[in-house]
Amino acid sequence: MINKPRGTEDILPSDSPIWRKIEQAAHEVCRLHGFKEIRTPVFEDTSLFQRGVGDTTDVVQKEMYTFEDKGGRSITLRPEGTASLARSFIENSFYANPQPTKLYYLISCYRYEKPQSGRLREFHQFGIECFGGTSDATDAEVITLAMSFFERLGVKNLKLNLNSIGCPVCKKAYNEKLKAYFEDYKDQLCETCKTRLEKNPMRIIDCKSEVCSKIAEKAPKMIDNLCDDCKEHFEKTTAYLDALGIEYEINPDIVRGLDYYTRTVFEITSDALGAQSTVCGGGRYNGLIEELGGKPTEGIGFAVGLERLIMIMKAQGLCNDNDSATDIFVASIGDKADIFAQKLVYDLRKLHIAAERDLCGRSVKAQMKFANKLNSKYSIVLGDDEIDNNSAKLKNMDTGESFDVELTAEKLAEIIK
Ligand SMILES: [Zn+2]
Ligand SMILES: [Zn+2]
Repeated sequence: MINKPRGTEDILPSDSPIWRKIEQAAHEVCRLHGFKEIRTPVFEDTSLFQRGVGDTTDVVQKEMYTFEDKGGRSITLRPEGTASLARSFIENSFYANPQPTKLYYLISCYRYEKPQSGRLREFHQFGIECFGGTSDATDAEVITLAMSFFERLGVKNLKLNLNSIGCPVCKKAYNEKLKAYFEDYKDQLCETCKTRLEKNPMRIIDCKSEVCSKIAEKAPKMIDNLCDDCKEHFEKTTAYLDALGIEYEINPDIVRGLDYYTRTVFEITSDALGAQSTVCGGGRYNGLIEELGGKPTEGIGFAVGLERLIMIMKAQGLCNDNDSATDIFVASIGDKADIFAQKLVYDLRKLHIAAERDLCGRSVKAQMKFANKLNSKYSIVLGDDEIDNNSAKLKNMDTGESFDVELTAEKLAEIIK
């Protein structure tokens, strides 16, 4: 027997309704906010992620699925969605359109991590990106969209954590401060962080090692070291949220794992799974498009981890949707009725009725048992008499009542609808 690769999951028919519900909520909330769907390739040139995610991040250093294809190119399965969208924005000259460019995606991503609950090697994200939105209202709009998405799904008790990680100007001064702070603990830092100390000390705050995060606790905070422009941007963003009645908490420890973020960063967490866990992370990344060779363009977005979201929704009892049951089961006795039944379900389906019949050569009794298993709303039994008289008994499977009906798809559809 061949099993699925480690860190992957089959999404089984029993779980499909919740996936569809989430996807529909994403499509609908994005439509209301004017975001358009985009679909990009599962794999990209490796350098896109090295440049667009940042080569000092854990994702790029340790977790990417990178391989050489038969043409000798270095290819990587996308570990996230933003870099691909930025690439597409530049490649398709979207900056020539009136701005902002509002895009969203529903994708699978790939990271070679130690598989654990809610963290897979193939996982799924719903995310949005808004390019070219220069005002602080953009930040508020993006955060609002995320909150509306969760609200539409009925997810409760979420916490919005907000922070600003500044711009290149204030980051530079802050990085010096951080470097000076971490210098004192240099010998205790993990190997990865020792190199980060030179290249990008802010990444140390995000390190998953216990020792590093302990040391990082008392490090200077970016939010206390913002330049005037960044400070004003953050204040305006929170003023919008206040006006909209969206509750948030300022959390100076959020830096987000990826290199390209500037100014607003946020995380939406839930305690439904015990400890606080992040279900949505996002922020502003003003440097990304330029880093990838485009004209300077501001960007902001978020991504929701769908596996984690489903765990939360299950914990909150929000996954009780069933795939809609069969509308009618058409049982048949004899060759003539078999053919009639096949034609009848064919015609009913054209009229948008979910119709089923036996495909396993069952007896009539077994067919009716099967109709029960299918949770069919109605059933009908056809034999030679019914066909000759063009009339049969339609049974309501919930109430047990039955009544005579004319044996045409149109008549049946009329009653069932
Ligand atoms: Zn700044
Ligand atoms: Zn570390």
